[in-house]
Amino acid sequence: MTHDFAIVVAMDDERGIGRGGQLPWHLPGDLAQFRRVTRGSADSTSAVIMGRRTWDSLPPRFRPLPGRLNVVMSRQSQASVSSGDMGSGRVIWVGSLVEALSGFSSEVDRVFVIGGGQIYAEALIRPECRELFVTHVQGTYGCDVHFPAFAHQFEEAETSALQGEEGARYRFAKYRRR
Ligand code: NAP
Repeated sequence: MTHDFAIVVAMDDERGIGRGGQLPWHLPGDLAQFRRVTRGSADSTSAVIMGRRTWDSLPPRFRPLPGRLNVVMSRQSQASVSSGDMGSGRVIWVGSLVEALSGFSSEVDRVFVIGGGQIYAEALIRPECRELFVTHVQGTYGCDVHFPAFAHQFEEAETSALQGEEGARYRFAKYRRR
């Protein structure tokens, strides 16, 4: 059986999410929200699924993301991608999204897809994708990776007030599948 999951993403007004292999902004408040959403509680386990390029974009000292099972998607053989990383924490490498979603043990109760562009595009169209946690960053950032259009499939259920940080303004929204 494949596990239900939510997507967590920060995007600008053009649904831009990345530039030059990195996030186009530095927003500590958004990173804190990302941790709040994706970290499990003491008695539960969360898993985060990401593409290999997003894994590569994380500074080595911050990966694997602590307190979460890290699942990295790659078409390369596991040995060639990163045998060193595999020993350093809770990381597993998978060859497809279905392999990730069908491989969780019962101890994993919440699953999040956390990017990047290729993985979001594949994940968004799957019926197991029930919710989106979106940080809407105002303005445009010249991104080279974008999130797909989603308004026809998802409706906004919650939103926060606008907040400002490091010259940027953003709000947190939650969407549910229509
Ligand atoms: P990505 O989606 O992170 O990773 C792409 C890689 O995933 C591919 O090269 C391939 O790895 C693997 N992959 C893709 N589809 C697969 C499949 N069906 N089966 C198995 N493996 C598969 O890369 P991206 O689209 O370039 O996105 C990275 C950008 O997004 C960066 O700029 C990052 O900072 C940004 N980002 C933004 C957010 C946000 O919330 N704003 C979140 C995450 C990332 P191999 O090449 O190893 O085969």
